[in-house]
Amino acid sequence: MEPTVRIPSAAPSHVRVPPELEGLRRLAYNLYWSWHPAARGVFGRINGGVWSRTHSPIPVLASMVDWPSLLDNSDFMVEAQRVISDFDRYMANGADHWFHRRHARELKGPIAYFCAEYGLHESMGIYSGGLGVLAGDHMKAASDMALPLVGVGLLYRNGYFRQTIDADGHQEHRYPDYDLVRMPLTRALGREGNPLTVSVELPERTVHVDVWTVQVGRVPVLLLDTDNPINDPSDRPITHILYVRGREMRLHQELILGVGGVRALSALAIQPDVWHLNEGHSAFLLAERARERVVAGDDLDTALAAVARNSVFTIHTPVSAGNERFDADLVRRVAGPLLDGDGRRRTGGVPVERVLEIGRGTDNDAGQFDMTAFSLRLTNGANAVSKLHAVTANATWREIVPHEILAITNGVHPPTWVGGPVLGLFERYLDADLDDLDGTTAATRWWERIERIPVAELWNAHLDQKRELALFARGRLRTQFARHGEAPRTLEQLGDALDPKILTIGFARRFATYKRAGMIFTDTERLARLLTDADRPVQLVFAGKAHPADRPGQAVIQEIFGRTRSPEFRGRVYILEDYDMRIARFLVQGVDVWLNTPRRPLEASGTSGMKAGSNGVVDLSVLDGWWDEGWTGDNGWAIGGREPLGDEAAQDWADAMDLYRILESEVVPEYYDRDEKGVPVRWVERMRRSIGTILWQFSTTRMLHEYTEMLYLPAAGIEVTQEASVRQ
Ligand SMILES: *Cc1c(COP(=O)(O)O)cnc(C)c1O
Repeated sequence: MEPTVRIPSAAPSHVRVPPELEGLRRLAYNLYWSWHPAARGVFGRINGGVWSRTHSPIPVLASMVDWPSLLDNSDFMVEAQRVISDFDRYMANGADHWFHRRHARELKGPIAYFCAEYGLHESMGIYSGGLGVLAGDHMKAASDMALPLVGVGLLYRNGYFRQTIDADGHQEHRYPDYDLVRMPLTRALGREGNPLTVSVELPERTVHVDVWTVQVGRVPVLLLDTDNPINDPSDRPITHILYVRGREMRLHQELILGVGGVRALSALAIQPDVWHLNEGHSAFLLAERARERVVAGDDLDTALAAVARNSVFTIHTPVSAGNERFDADLVRRVAGPLLDGDGRRRTGGVPVERVLEIGRGTDNDAGQFDMTAFSLRLTNGANAVSKLHAVTANATWREIVPHEILAITNGVHPPTWVGGPVLGLFERYLDADLDDLDGTTAATRWWERIERIPVAELWNAHLDQKRELALFARGRLRTQFARHGEAPRTLEQLGDALDPKILTIGFARRFATYKRAGMIFTDTERLARLLTDADRPVQLVFAGKAHPADRPGQAVIQEIFGRTRSPEFRGRVYILEDYDMRIARFLVQGVDVWLNTPRRPLEASGTSGMKAGSNGVVDLSVLDGWWDEGWTGDNGWAIGGREPLGDEAAQDWADAMDLYRILESEVVPEYYDRDEKGVPVRWVERMRRSIGTILWQFSTTRMLHEYTEMLYLPAAGIEVTQEASVRQ
């Protein structure tokens, strides 16, 4: 199998560049630029103003009027040509990549990867949080490793909500209206060269689904879109909003994703060897594939077994209450005719009663259809997203799955998440190649040579990242405070907010109550003493959204917002609005400590702490999710232990007390223990251990090795021999 699935697509005509710089247009339509700083630099030089407003190359190219002066700028032209030829080489060289040669050559077709959201870049708001960012990082790593893969998802024109917080601390929701022309999207072309549209039959009508492509390096992601004028006006919004609240609308979305996705691949003549369901939202793809086989003549059981054989599933929730479920009657009504028929008439495809039976949950409630149970029963391999999560998932689903749920711990894509200054040191001292984060070929791996970076230089690179965070956050806070009507004098004081000299603790994630964002405020007097200490002060910065339907989560936001404005914490505690990949990057690169306080074992994995650790930002976390296996004793701190302590309230109290103890007796003293040059040597050693133990171990490179060897190749019927294995 070739390293790249090629999707024919229409060249966008609205962006014009001179022939000498045609490569920039190709680059603008490939998210390769999002993890290659030199490529971003070139777009920034074309129009710094538009770039800093949009962080997106297409608006930059579209805004350009004075090409001649750029063509005369030889300095620019040299840099642009260098970036373009690096990009072209990257795209052309996949077949030479060692991982591709070792693992992909026997594949006959690509891996089809289905997910409801993709976090590729902040300028494409088709993600909400961790699941999407994981999927986005998976695409980028598959591209870097030349693993033939094609993603399938939905194109949400109104995305996920943008958050503001009003002056009373209430979360406000606003849905953007994306201008697709300004996004790196092209229409996929069907066999006759026309823009591809597939159809999905829903009760009493057919919904037409447009197929778009976003190119992520070598990996294309197909995005499905029902907002086509030939559809009934009430069907056009099916794909408008991510995690739409209404159950019936959500079911429609998931049918479009699963069924529409299978039909899009087949219309493009793509025949996957492996089908990967990342979370259960796309589970109808399994029913659709079985239906196709039955219509082609298979008997039902043979069809179901054949579909399961090359399908794999990743579970993301630790408790069954967190799983996607639909009313069985709703599924009967909305999906029944489609699944039972051949698309036009009922011919006994896959009877909906059989579908419902396969989707019976752990409580055996015949009134509910459980997407996770359905996915587990109809796939031949499944994984949880950390070792601890595998233990809880196997306990929860033992009666449903015929096989063990494996552990493949999540990872992050280092080129996306490691900041420029720290990356510069990796390149200068370690000879790092982040595009080929390779665990095997070198005798010592470059991140294990981390000792070579001089202490003071690592510290200074970290301080540079802290300063970038401060500058960014001050701008955002000024906007927030001004909107709340704060006085000019107060706005002026924000110029000193988040002073990089002060120990800074970051906490950013979805505000769900089990994450206990408010835990650090358990004893406000004790915390106030810690934050306002004259010699060794501490500051906190929060960010995160709560789902629009999650009122308790919104109450946590209100509590924290109140703290930021209260007399004892004002100036020491801040909350940034509208958490997204951009804010995440500034935070995981620029705070000193990354705080994580979920109620064990409810966090399946978590990934933001991996991003932090890869930057030398030290993790301070409950032993839940990935940290349960990532903590080595000296690369960060563990809050609490592994044994549960009585009831929830007792556990919360004990964890809070342990958090204060660690902060007071370890974090603060170590951070402020400086040598004669002002460098906290012991702290920097801890930063190094963080990088050395996290950068590779919790990278998407390691993760994709495991997906390939534990799930993809077995599903494709390819044996992984000991010699071929690249696992650690
Ligand atoms: C990485 C990331 C997440 C996931 O991190 P968690 O640790 O699981 O919370 C969520 N949202 C954004 C914007 C991210 O970048």
